[in-house]
Amino acid sequence: MTTDLLADVRGQLDALAARSLVRRRRTAETPCAPRQVVDGRAMLAFCSNDYLGLAAHPRVVEALREGASLYGAGSGASHLVSGHSRAHALLEERLAAFAAPHLASARALYFCTGYMANLAVLTALGGAADAAIFSEALNHASLIDGARLARAGVTVYPHGDTAALDAQLAASTARTKIVVTDSVFSMDGDLAPLPALLALCERHGAWLVVDDAHGFGVLGEHGRGALEHFGLRSPHLVYVGTLGKAAGVGGAFVAAHADVVELLVQRARPYIYTTAAAPALAHALLASLDIIDGDEGRALRAQLRAGIAQFERELRLERWRRPASHTAIQPIVIGANDEALAVSADLHAQGLWVPAIRPPTVAPGTARLRVTLCAAHLDTDVAQLTSALNRLERSRA
Ligand SMILES: *Cc1c(COP(=O)(O)O)cnc(C)c1O
Repeated sequence: MTTDLLADVRGQLDALAARSLVRRRRTAETPCAPRQVVDGRAMLAFCSNDYLGLAAHPRVVEALREGASLYGAGSGASHLVSGHSRAHALLEERLAAFAAPHLASARALYFCTGYMANLAVLTALGGAADAAIFSEALNHASLIDGARLARAGVTVYPHGDTAALDAQLAASTARTKIVVTDSVFSMDGDLAPLPALLALCERHGAWLVVDDAHGFGVLGEHGRGALEHFGLRSPHLVYVGTLGKAAGVGGAFVAAHADVVELLVQRARPYIYTTAAAPALAHALLASLDIIDGDEGRALRAQLRAGIAQFERELRLERWRRPASHTAIQPIVIGANDEALAVSADLHAQGLWVPAIRPPTVAPGTARLRVTLCAAHLDTDVAQLTSALNRLERSRA
C-alpha cells in the first residue's frame, strides 16, 4: 500500500513535468544584488524585488548585527505571550507615522510575512458569513488564500474593471463589504486604479484593502507607497506593506484605524498563533526605513525610475507581448510554458538571470519572463538585457 501512496505522488510530479510546469530553485552564493554568484557562476540578475538594493546595504546589515547583540537571535514566543520586544514596538510606531497622513487614528502591526498579513486581514474583516469579499482577478495568491480562509462570500471582479465592481457592490446585500486589490500587480507591473476604487468603496460603504507589496518603499515622494503616490486618505483604508521587498529585510505590516488593528491583535490567527519574528529584523528595518524616508531613498528611487525608462525605450519587440507597465516589474508575455522556459534558459546561457513565470502564478497561455529592475542596475546592465532580448526574439522566430 505504501508504494501506491508514493506512486500517486510520482504521478502528480510526472504530470507537472509533462506540462513544463516543474519549478527549480537556483542557489545564490552571494548577497542579493544585480551581480550575484549563482550555483557557482557569476550572473547579472533581473529577478529580485530588492528594488532599492537595501537587502545588502551596509547600514541595514550593520543594524541587523546590532539588533542581534541588543535583542538576541530569536523572540522566544508569539507577540501575545512574551515575544513582543522593544524593537517591534519601535518599528510599529515608525510605520504608523508613515501611514498617518493617509488613515484616521493610524496604528501599525508587524507580521512575520506578507502572506500572513493578508490572511490575517481577510479572515478578521471577512470573518462573518454575512460579509462579502470583492477580489480583483489578478490578486496575489496570498489574497486569494485569505479570501478562501475567510467565512465571507467571495466575488472576483475583472482586472481593473471598476464598472463591474460597482455593479457587484450595488447588487450585494452583505452586511460588511471588503474590496481587496494589489496596488502594483506582481506579475504584470501595472497599477490598480486606487482613487476610483476608493471612491466606489466610500459610496458603497466598503473597506478597501490595498496590498502594496511592490509599492512600499518605491512609490510616492517619500517611498511611503501607493497611498502617498495617489494622495489617498480614508478611515476605511486597510494598508498592507511588505518589508522583504524594497525594504530589503523581511516581514510585513498592516496599517489601519487603531480599532481595526486591535481587532487583528485580538482575532487574527496568523498573528496570534505564530512565534514573533526575530527582533533583530525589526531593528534592521528601522535602518532601512531611515534610508527609504531620506535623501538616499529619494536618489535610489530616481535611479530606479531612470532604469525603467531606459528599459522601456530600448526594448523593441514584435511578437512577444508587453503589458503596459511603468514600474520596476516589466513582464514579457511569451505564451507557451516551454517557450518561456527556453528563452529564460537562453538568457541564462548568456549570464542573464531572468525567471520564467508559468501557471498557476499567471493564467494558462500567458507564461512570461518577469524582468525586475533595481536602483543598482547600471545603464550598461539594462542595455545588455534589452539587446539580448531584442536579438533573442528575432532568432527564435
Ligand atoms: C510578495 C507578495 C506578498 C507576500 O509577501 P511576503 O512578505 O513575501 O510573504 C503579498 N502580496 C504581494 C502582491 C506580493 O507580491
